[in-house]
Amino acid sequence: MPIKIHLLLSILTQIGLIVGTPLFGIFLFGNSAITFITMIFFAFAFFFVARFVFCSLIPAKCPNVNCGNIQSYQERSKPLIYVCRECKYEHVTCVSEGDEC
Ligand SMILES: [Zn+2]
Repeated sequence: MPIKIHLLLSILTQIGLIVGTPLFGIFLFGNSAITFITMIFFAFAFFFVARFVFCSLIPAKCPNVNCGNIQSYQERSKPLIYVCRECKYEHVTCVSEGDEC
């Protein structure tokens, strides 16, 4: 998939898990402090799993016109950079975790 779609999916998945997990937990187990704290824990656990999956397991399409392999992985986060494992092409996005760009 193109980097733009990959980036959008990874961000939406991570936000969805952070927001959705506690809501789903409250829906399933009722609104109590224990449920809430447990679900926050799970939300962060799922968040890091999703992050790992998108960084390490799901590559995006390399934007280098001479390459085009589906081997571009998210690497650094300030800003977020995709690096192709075939041609080493680095695609810098304007998304940065922590700072504005
Ligand atoms: Zn490439």
